[in-house]
Amino acid sequence: MAVKKYPKGSKTKLSKNFKAYEFDCKGKGCCTETLIDEDFVKNKLQMIADHYGKATIVNCGYRCPVHNANVKNASKNSKHMQGIAFDIRVPGVTPIEVAQYAESIGIKGIGLYDTFVHVDGRSSKCFWKGHSQIKVSTFGAKKKNTAVQKWQTAARKDGFDISADGIWGKESEAAAKKAVCKKGCAYSNLTKIIQSAVGVKADGKFGDNTRTAVKAWQKQHNLTPDGIFGLKSWKTLLGV
Ligand SMILES: [Zn+2]
Ligand SMILES: [Zn+2]
Repeated sequence: MAVKKYPKGSKTKLSKNFKAYEFDCKGKGCCTETLIDEDFVKNKLQMIADHYGKATIVNCGYRCPVHNANVKNASKNSKHMQGIAFDIRVPGVTPIEVAQYAESIGIKGIGLYDTFVHVDGRSSKCFWKGHSQIKVSTFGAKKKNTAVQKWQTAARKDGFDISADGIWGKESEAAAKKAVCKKGCAYSNLTKIIQSAVGVKADGKFGDNTRTAVKAWQKQHNLTPDGIFGLKSWKTLLGV
């Protein structure tokens, strides 16, 4: 972790979606500097923002010791005082979903609350629920799917703006809807994935041979054998 100090109110951009002042201590007249684990912001928080494709709101970042002592329910040894903890929410996404996603990307400290999720950069796992800190072993995160990961990487190379996290989210679903492959579609990395699944030389060009093989594959998988590789075919192939 790389914790850095910023003057309170700093507009320095830490990553695509986050500026330093968003992590300022919320106390009044208690401190002038903000501690921020920049690596955590750049890697984990930004990954969460990218995953949902919308603003991730930081309810609370740094808390100086004076302010921490005044916060109801705050732990005496709160990681917010080290600048490595963040209480976040994503509008329109439930806290449990955010907690599950945080778990899936390897965040070790996660606390689930009614209206927000606490995430922090600790190195050994600790998950809990609510202010009474009831320990849980998992939030039920979906396991990463390597087939989906491969698909996402190929889709990115084909110009779809999605993260390659191995989780089949809304953005992957939307991209799969657009990535309909049928006879004559342009050379693409996604076509190569189809071709290796249906047993055709993976040259990336969706031609007659590929179409015939896709029809046979669709028949085998109880799909309409139309030779068009649409959303249902993708979902079957990726097991999502
Ligand atoms: Zn303060
Ligand atoms: Zn917190």
